[in-house]
Amino acid sequence: MASAYLVPVAQLLRDVPSTLRVEFSALFDEMNEFDPLPAGEADVPRGAIAEVNLHLESFSGGLRARGQIAAPWRALCRRCSIDIDGHSEVQVSERFVDDRGPGDDDAYLVVNDFVDLAPLVHEAILLDLPVAPLCRPDCRGLCVQCGSDKNLGDCGCLAPIDPRWATLDNLRFVDNESNEASSE
Ligand SMILES: [Zn+2]
Ligand SMILES: [Zn+2]
Repeated sequence: MASAYLVPVAQLLRDVPSTLRVEFSALFDEMNEFDPLPAGEADVPRGAIAEVNLHLESFSGGLRARGQIAAPWRALCRRCSIDIDGHSEVQVSERFVDDRGPGDDDAYLVVNDFVDLAPLVHEAILLDLPVAPLCRPDCRGLCVQCGSDKNLGDCGCLAPIDPRWATLDNLRFVDNESNEASSE
């Protein structure tokens, strides 16, 4: 079965400038390239569908792919560990070239009059995944003492007093003084 990510561009590259609309949905990880990430990391789940909506515009020696890529992701909240379902929508503008010249290090290659959009889609979505996903911006997390979900109500535990914090102010004070001394 031909991959939807492989787009024939021979005619586009012959008629410069011209435009081709590319719109499809396909398995995000069609080739099973990615192993699941460790539990808790934001990840595109197995079997997830990516939505690709691009305009390809040819120029002499290549083309530019512009438009939107979208895919779902899944993660655990960093603070309270509940499952989160998210959705990434990324605007892209990337070049494909016949040959990489100076300054083309970040360009993808046109191979045998085809462009493979899969690497572009993967890169755009994976870079957009949240590093520290939260179920909501003000998630209160779990109580460090009794483990109850503080979003569901106050458990009544008192904050522990950690003796290590007691000396921290003194340390900061010393740091500030040495910074001032070195900058003069
Ligand atoms: Zn949370
Ligand atoms: Zn508690």
